[in-house]
Amino acid sequence: MLYEINEKALKLESEGKKIIRLNLGDPDMTTPPEIVEAAYAAMKAGKTKYSSSYGELKLRQKIAEIHGVKAENVVITPGSKWAIFSTMFLTMKNGGNVIIPTPYWTAYDLITKSIGAQSKLLKTEMETGWKVDLDALENLIDSETKMIILNNPNNPTSKVMDDKTLEGIVEIANKKDIIVLSDEVYGAIAFNKTKSILDYGSDSKHIISNGFSKTFTMTGWRIGYIVANKMFIDQVTKLNQITFNNVPVFIQEAAMKGLELHKQIAENIKAKYRQRADLASKKLSATGFKFTQPDAPFYVFPKRDGLDGEKFTLDLLDRGVAVAPGTSFGDYREHFRISLTAPDNEIETGLDKICEATQ
Ligand code: PMP
Repeated sequence: MLYEINEKALKLESEGKKIIRLNLGDPDMTTPPEIVEAAYAAMKAGKTKYSSSYGELKLRQKIAEIHGVKAENVVITPGSKWAIFSTMFLTMKNGGNVIIPTPYWTAYDLITKSIGAQSKLLKTEMETGWKVDLDALENLIDSETKMIILNNPNNPTSKVMDDKTLEGIVEIANKKDIIVLSDEVYGAIAFNKTKSILDYGSDSKHIISNGFSKTFTMTGWRIGYIVANKMFIDQVTKLNQITFNNVPVFIQEAAMKGLELHKQIAENIKAKYRQRADLASKKLSATGFKFTQPDAPFYVFPKRDGLDGEKFTLDLLDRGVAVAPGTSFGDYREHFRISLTAPDNEIETGLDKICEATQ
């Protein structure tokens, strides 16, 4: 229903209705001007040709340095969505299943279905701090299990996984010879330092997907990457060659500029979203919603006992606020997700309307 709500919100807007858009993870801020200038300079310098399907070496080296790997372990993709799709496609195109802890980012399950693989959902609950139960995880694994997907920090809960759980998951995956795909697209802007899957031993089977959309407010630029062993990177590159070939070089140059300014840009984003998360927490707690405090941008995933999240979302849209129903992220009817990605004044009005709607 996530994409359906978005289409409905767009339709209402096209009819002239003002909709406060708190339904998608697309930040209201603009891409930092230095990044835009870098793209423009690269275009003017003629960097507008076909190029390597691995991505530009300079950018891969910089990413490798950040993750403590070699450039041969990095491939550039059009967004982390393609990083995830290609990784899942290559791992499960001949069948198999993937374990996906829920609540999940909607695309994991849709990608699984689109490539003819099966999803095995592993439910986590707000009441237990969204913790993955390691025994339940191990019990779900069968001879067809090819992958476990982690999303750390998580969309929609904005929760960071605790070290012990992460370590436990890696241990199980290593024991059962299963790949962990760790989607770390919110990792660099988590409010506190967040561990990466690579911090848990250098078992080279595990894969990171990451991107520039969230850290650098570059959602529309479509650039992300995979960190994996060289053999896997070569396979993804072959897939790149027969599909999009390469992310435009001027966009890779812009991403490179983002990495150069990383510290300053990420700090600004963190500060802004921490402020927004605090505001949301204050208003939602005062209205009696239950939720876990966000550890990262951009989301809050509140719950109210007995709430029909889908009906609530549709009613709220009639009041001019778009959010996403909990059922878009698994079996979470009593939840809904608020994206704190609109201008501050709209977030404030949107939160007030959300609180009024449940009175
Ligand atoms: N992973 C997660 C968890 C996301 O929320 C998103 C975007 N909403 C993506 C991946 C994809 O991001 P992109 O393709 O823009 O890098």
